[in-house]
Amino acid sequence: MSNDFDLFAYAMEQKFGDVHFKVDPKTGLKAIIAIHNTNLGPSLGGCRFKAYNHYQDAVFDAMRLARGMSLKSALADLPLGGGKAVIIEPSKPYNRIELLKSFGKFVNELKGRYITAVDVGTNVADMDIIYQNTLYVTCTSAYEGNGPSNPAALTALGVKQGIKAGLQYYFGSPEVAGRHIAIQGVGSVGYLLAEMLSHEGAKLTVCDMNQQAVNQCVQQFGATACSLDEIMQLKCDVLSPCALGAILTENSIPLIQAPIIAGAANNQLATPEDGARLAARDIIYAPDYVINAGGIIHVAYQYQGKNYDRIIEKVNDIYHTTLNILNKSKELKKPTSDVAEQLALEKLCIEEGALS
Ligand code: NAD
Repeated sequence: MSNDFDLFAYAMEQKFGDVHFKVDPKTGLKAIIAIHNTNLGPSLGGCRFKAYNHYQDAVFDAMRLARGMSLKSALADLPLGGGKAVIIEPSKPYNRIELLKSFGKFVNELKGRYITAVDVGTNVADMDIIYQNTLYVTCTSAYEGNGPSNPAALTALGVKQGIKAGLQYYFGSPEVAGRHIAIQGVGSVGYLLAEMLSHEGAKLTVCDMNQQAVNQCVQQFGATACSLDEIMQLKCDVLSPCALGAILTENSIPLIQAPIIAGAANNQLATPEDGARLAARDIIYAPDYVINAGGIIHVAYQYQGKNYDRIIEKVNDIYHTTLNILNKSKELKKPTSDVAEQLALEKLCIEEGALS
């Protein structure tokens, strides 16, 4: 992205332009809240806190991530829309508490159309500060005790269910025991996923830039380590990308040997055409935002006061949602990514051509 980003052209192309800006000279706050859709309920999505070279990049991030949240929540059948906030980290010294309080006022001004949550660069303590000025915030310490405050555990559970759906579809059984699963990135989500899969008897291969994280998986789960380059081409049953986005590309797809791809990483397809490239190679792709929805389900259900057992039950539904998409993809002869997007748009009552 560069400083020639045309907000209005992008908004027209994406068919949404509900974007709010706030500048507070007193605290140095420069923030953006993008609300993609509220047809199913108030928009919910995390608040990013990071430095940007160009403010246009921050706007673009808020808008594309808000749209992704709409699709994710719709397919998880949550009564929520999609929104996202970005706080641009000031280049000059600043008071984080005052900045976050000011952001809380900004959220409050939208009167509940947007509910904020943790994301890259924000944490539970930040949400507690925001809560001083608005009720439209989740992931605060008030929710501690009703399951862990870190959503990674339920994200990993949802990804495991997505993997099982892929196994069921391809092998006719969801059992992971004896299956070879390769995990790219064993950070917060990847590590917990490795732990669950190893308990169920999977054979694991892992890679990570962080050698310590790899060693932990080798020692604790008997995983095999492989290099960052090898993982995408590994002969295995499931490739589970849990690190980076845009790893499924025109160049990487022809080299993939796994019949199933199912992982947590956001935006795995570099372009929408890569969904068709995977389908053309008969590689089963469990769309990322379908199977990594455990975190948003966790956050949304906590906000609604649901207990942890109910939250787990809901995350386990990701198995059926994924299997339904895989079956529909076969029936309609369309890439799973297209089927998922179309289903989400239908649930959101956004017409972009009905499934046929
Ligand atoms: P994390 O930062 O804790 O872990 C990512 C890991 O990937 C790190 O250990 C990092 O060293 C490793 N990594 C980075 N580049 C790599 C590379 N080229 N090859 C291999 N490993 C590499 O992040 P996380 O919270 O575990 O999230 C992982 C992915 O899942 C991200 O794309 C994130 O957006 C997505 N996601 C996370 C959640 C959640 O609840 N945490 C929810 C939905 C989606």
